[in-house]
Amino acid sequence: MAAEERRQQETLTLIASENHCSPLVREACSSILTDKYAEGYPGARYYAGCEVADKVEILAQERALRLFPGAEHANVQPHSGTTANLTALQALAGTGGGILGMALADGGHLSHGFKVSHTGKVFDAHQYGVDPDSGLLRMDQIRDMAKEHRPRVIIAGASSYAREIDFAAFAAIAKEVDAYLMADIAHPAGLVAAGLLSSPIPHADVVTMTTHKTLRGPRGGLILCREELRKKVDSSVFPGGQGGPLMHQIVAKAVAFGEALKPEFKGYQESVRDNARAMAETLQERGLAIVTGGTDNHLVLIDLRATETTGADAEERCLAAGIALNKNMVPGDPRPPRVTSGIRIGTAAMTSRGMGIEQAKSLAGIIADLVGGKDPASCGGAVRDLCASYKLP
Ligand SMILES: *Cc1c(COP(=O)(O)O)cnc(C)c1O
Repeated sequence: MAAEERRQQETLTLIASENHCSPLVREACSSILTDKYAEGYPGARYYAGCEVADKVEILAQERALRLFPGAEHANVQPHSGTTANLTALQALAGTGGGILGMALADGGHLSHGFKVSHTGKVFDAHQYGVDPDSGLLRMDQIRDMAKEHRPRVIIAGASSYAREIDFAAFAAIAKEVDAYLMADIAHPAGLVAAGLLSSPIPHADVVTMTTHKTLRGPRGGLILCREELRKKVDSSVFPGGQGGPLMHQIVAKAVAFGEALKPEFKGYQESVRDNARAMAETLQERGLAIVTGGTDNHLVLIDLRATETTGADAEERCLAAGIALNKNMVPGDPRPPRVTSGIRIGTAAMTSRGMGIEQAKSLAGIIADLVGGKDPASCGGAVRDLCASYKLP
């Protein structure tokens, strides 16, 4: 634990799916609630002694619903985003049912029907992509695929898509083909909760997310749905896909949702977004191509195809200089997934350390230097200084 704390303290995390949660959330994760079995739901448990667990779970649910107005029911038990998706899809599509999600190579997530994921095996999965030139979702193409395959569920959401998603347009397509719409806001959940991106709630039948990315909570999943889907969703999570809930994670979710309901959270999310914009602008000024030409959220996808550097090279060089980020496929990528022609950066974690636009710009400059072939050893000092000045929360 000490070694990992040191590593995080001394590494500048720009991995778009990571964040640094608050000390209170960390404390809640390590609480004695880890010892408690609470199979079932508040008021209807299969174990004795759940009176405290019930209060905790109800508090987490109430706060989740306040955080995402319009949602009618919250299931706070999914152990992870993948479990949330698998169980929600099972509830909506059923075994063998058709699903239509975004392809992994184009920015989607494994759990949206990729072939090695259970979601690609248990369901009849079809995948849509983005326009290879603009990097943007093509709603007309998604509509054509929906009409061709007639899925039970259409999934809207991504892991490396820097632009706002038009949930209303997805809902119109879902309505046309009589499918459920599931929105997965794992990445931008914090920005949505803060009102900086439009909410999928009025449009989607079910919304899934992780609680540990921009939402800045403990590692875990969350499902929101309409009241009429409550039974289906709840029974799919337990007993369908999980046993006992992780009560220490659920109490930590309640703490994190409480933090996200505070006025400061909006300021934090604004800073996350402004830092991402500043990085995209600096990278562009330095001649690097940004997929979709910029960002609306916390992440920036850099297209390295016009450079000599692969995604894997860039990732390695950045890490040698103390910056953790990840290689990523870009739309139409000619290179294999282990190499790639892109890197993905996200600003949630650096912003949690208190960094602002000035630091974002200097980090983007360092990344541009490293992509351009500068020796990581000559950049490491500047990164170390930043880490020393901006400690983990
Ligand atoms: C991260 C992510 C998930 C999965 O989260 P895990 O907790 O790692 O299982 C699901 N969907 C999307 C879009 C994600 O980005």
